[in-house]
Amino acid sequence: MRRLDPNDAEVPDDPLDKLGASGGVYVLVLKCAGRAFRARVGALGVLGFRRGFYCYVGSARTGLRARLRRHLQRTARATRWHVDYLRGRLRPLAAVTWTGQGAGECRLSQAVAALADGSVAGFGCSDCRCRSHLYYFARDPAARLGKIRLPGTPVPLVVRMRGDK
Ligand SMILES: [Zn+2]
Repeated sequence: MRRLDPNDAEVPDDPLDKLGASGGVYVLVLKCAGRAFRARVGALGVLGFRRGFYCYVGSARTGLRARLRRHLQRTARATRWHVDYLRGRLRPLAAVTWTGQGAGECRLSQAVAALADGSVAGFGCSDCRCRSHLYYFARDPAARLGKIRLPGTPVPLVVRMRGDK
């Protein structure tokens, strides 16, 4: 029998560990891999979601990592943001994050809108003047989102999620 070296075990790092504790803005890329479905999203009522990719734009004043961890939890303790209603229905695929003072959530939302194939009206923008903070893409947008440059921020970080979460 072979003696196992515990230091040799290949334990994967949490991809979110790259983010650290800084604040910033982010796009959470979610995939609808199965059939289209309808879901109730708080005061917005029942909305339809189709096969493809949904991108949620958000910001965290501090702790991007903690915020994204919260989004990735499988079960909801509370529904605070519209995106919480989609938990368990859409699969988290990637997160793209911009840190720094210049990062504005609505400016990012406009940049994502310019690339998107559609948007879900009213989603995630109750406290701003945007039309939406949730965008639809027919094809995986993570690489394209990683090319968005926001003034006053470093190059964004694209974090790919692992496994079928
Ligand atoms: Zn906005």
